[in-house]
Amino acid sequence: MPSAPYSPREAGDEPLEPLRLPSDRDHTGRTFGDPELSNLAAVLQSGHLNATGGEWTPRFERAFADRHGRTHGIAVNSGSAAVHTALGALGLNEGDEVITTSITDMGAVLPIVLEGATPVFCDVDPNTGNVSSESILQALTDRTRAVIVTHLFGQIADVREAIATCRDRGVPLIEDAAQAFLATEDGDVAGSLGDLGCFSFQQGKHMTTGEGGVVVCDDDELDKHCRRFVNKGFGYGEQRPDHDRPGWNARWTELQAAVALAQLDRLQDVVDRRRERAEQFRQSLAGAPGLRFEAPRPGTEHSYWRVPLLIDRSVIPGGPDALAQELRPLGVGSAPRYIQKPAFECEVFRRGAEFGALRGLGAEALGSPDRLPGTYAFLDQVLVLPWNEHLTEDQVDGLADRLRHIAERLAHSSHDTAVETSESPR
Ligand SMILES: *Cc1c(COP(=O)(O)O)cnc(C)c1O
Repeated sequence: MPSAPYSPREAGDEPLEPLRLPSDRDHTGRTFGDPELSNLAAVLQSGHLNATGGEWTPRFERAFADRHGRTHGIAVNSGSAAVHTALGALGLNEGDEVITTSITDMGAVLPIVLEGATPVFCDVDPNTGNVSSESILQALTDRTRAVIVTHLFGQIADVREAIATCRDRGVPLIEDAAQAFLATEDGDVAGSLGDLGCFSFQQGKHMTTGEGGVVVCDDDELDKHCRRFVNKGFGYGEQRPDHDRPGWNARWTELQAAVALAQLDRLQDVVDRRRERAEQFRQSLAGAPGLRFEAPRPGTEHSYWRVPLLIDRSVIPGGPDALAQELRPLGVGSAPRYIQKPAFECEVFRRGAEFGALRGLGAEALGSPDRLPGTYAFLDQVLVLPWNEHLTEDQVDGLADRLRHIAERLAHSSHDTAVETSESPR
């Protein structure tokens, strides 16, 4: 499609039409049908809703582990619980360091503190928001007891080298794949690369049970410790079980397993459709001033939980915030800066000295613009767009057209006020 001639909106211009986009908060962007309903009916008819001794939970755990080329799956009641369970299985002690990222869901960070360990935030690639082998290896010390890698928005982080080094040094690596269902690198699926993989089935994830999560791994001992951790430290099904280490109740219910099994069947289709539309969107946006859509890293397939756009502030004054403000009245709720600020700038870390677990560390010690330049640069340029498998081709074109229009107008307004140079921004 030839791009429209440049036309800034002026008084008298038609205002841009709002869009009605599918939302993952309701039926417009979620799919539940007969399989979910009939599984749920079967669970209710059985009269057994608790995962302990249930049939549906182990069935789901096997299916999910199989789909990820893993030996074990341990279902839990949230993605946060999945990360907590993975860490709990490692038996951390005070003073242990856990390398992680400050650009992720807080549910992936706070379990480190709850386990009495100290988070060490490593830097991210300013173009993807993902940690890298280099940044992990820089943060590795002889106190490092675990590394958690979030694959942000559906892009697998470039961490193969760090995984190999961690393996050599006996440091377990946990993948947080809550945003990266069926993302791949060289054919390997997210959650199958590290020692443990964690997923969330919260309302807005690729597949959902409202709340829920799962941990996958291959090692029998890790599996055993995960199971104990979610079962109050109790070894159900073992010979002479006892409460032999700390744990809590992180179990979900058979109702969630019933829905999760049906959702798992839909997962590949969900990811395929998200990819197809994202590719269309990237092509439609090509050449829009000041907007960039980072291509998936070679060898990887993105799974598009969200679509992160990079905004060039030297072209678009006001950057991501200015675009978000223009998008809102058009029915597009986007997130400039994604999480607003790095995790260590949140109050819980600012007041770190009040929490024994942080050993008196405050935000300054955990991160700063000097220490983590990539982290600040990424948040400063990213605008996160909602994405969904129910988006139609027309909606994607409509979104791209509006973005281009807004970007051209904002870029033009900066040109008007800028000192004239020989080269005008297109
Ligand atoms: C959603 C999410 C979590 C937390 O999952 P909950 O189910 O909301 O507890 C953890 N990590 C990442 C990367 C997430 O996106």
